[in-house]
Amino acid sequence: MRALLAAAAVKKRKRGDPDPAVALEELGRLAETAGIEVLDKLLIKVSKYNPSTLIGSGKLEELKKLAAEGGAKLAIFDEELSPAQQRNLERVLGLPVIDRTYLILEIFSRRARTREGKLQVRMARFSYELSHLTGKGAAMGQQHGMIGTRGPGERQLEYYRRELRDKITALGKELDAIREERATQRGGRDSVPMPQVAIVGYTNSGKSTLLDRLTGRKHAIYADDKLFATLDPTTKRVRLPGGGWALLTDTVGFIQKLPHNLVAAFRSTLEETAHADLILHVHDLASPHMKLQRDAVRETLKELDLAEIPVINVYNKTDIAPEHRVNAEVLRKMRPVFVSALTGSGMKELLARVEAALTAKWEEHELLLPSGAQKMLSVIYRTALVKSAAYGEKGITVRFRATKENFRRIANLAQG
Ligand code: GDP
Ligand code: MG
Repeated sequence: MRALLAAAAVKKRKRGDPDPAVALEELGRLAETAGIEVLDKLLIKVSKYNPSTLIGSGKLEELKKLAAEGGAKLAIFDEELSPAQQRNLERVLGLPVIDRTYLILEIFSRRARTREGKLQVRMARFSYELSHLTGKGAAMGQQHGMIGTRGPGERQLEYYRRELRDKITALGKELDAIREERATQRGGRDSVPMPQVAIVGYTNSGKSTLLDRLTGRKHAIYADDKLFATLDPTTKRVRLPGGGWALLTDTVGFIQKLPHNLVAAFRSTLEETAHADLILHVHDLASPHMKLQRDAVRETLKELDLAEIPVINVYNKTDIAPEHRVNAEVLRKMRPVFVSALTGSGMKELLARVEAALTAKWEEHELLLPSGAQKMLSVIYRTALVKSAAYGEKGITVRFRATKENFRRIANLAQG
């Protein structure tokens, strides 16, 4: 399907508002991700947003002409449209019209793999519908295929509203049950947990490629030059240089103007992040919008109350990044690690930094295990950093580094 894309830029932008040109470019990538062919991307300057059609009628006529000449079957706007705006735009343009949020929902629903992911998308869809319902009787009539009737009255509207809320509540309960199950799994997986590292970053920065590289390319994690190639969290075990292990989780990519009900809906992948001992923030050195992307990610981390977790800044794609960027003073101050997930350069340093960050507070301990305690020994190997294991007459003397908490758990296990 071919589509015409448009963003309206008001002349006076507030500080901190996303740059409409950048947002439009991103909208283009989102459309391509959804398998839509982009006919053209138009940045339309307006002095203020038109409440009924977003942009003025002159501009609309231009759009209509372009769409007809280029054979567009769809128009996508970067702004969130009110139901009235959407309806009016569709009427004038003679084309189906969607907005950014709708497009993102569409991509998410196609890409969700797990039951949880699918439920979350449904929930986000219902919240979207609900927010587009409030007081907009006529639009409701259209949505429910009642064009031609006079549209439902306030009572009917109230009925739909309640119906949507009930569905959302039911989905929420189902999701809670799944989460509880996962929390139990997390607790039961091992009574001694491995350190958790979450990989976060703007979409397309190279998170999946990095995890793939760190796990030795044994597992093919779906990496793709598309936005949101991954939706469900992937967790893999990664070996640290000192011999210990860490669990690394690849998360969904952040993006500017990510609709809030989606941020909430995708808590699952971010929930894993909340349990992290360490965050790897992956930056795309090759993107001209690296700073904007960084701010969008930090903003989201703050919103999710994750600002307390230590962060290592990982600057990726050194193989194709302009030289001056790699050498920029501002970057150097943040004690970053420069890597190329594609070529594998910088991986050793990255792993060393991860280990140093994870073990900064670890202390050295010694434990005498009975000779047959192989299982116990493997738990220690998996969750701590073993310095030595000496087999003697009394048993196995293990010296290892671990957190206080971890040591207590291990000692308990050894006694029990
Ligand atoms: P994610 O959305 O953050 O998970 O990003 P992906 O891992 O899917 O990568 C996005 C795109 O960037 C893919 O086409 C990767 O092949 C590419 N990519 C990732 N890391 C590098 C790198 O170090 N160098 C280059 N040149 N491309 C990379
Ligand atoms: Mg990915």
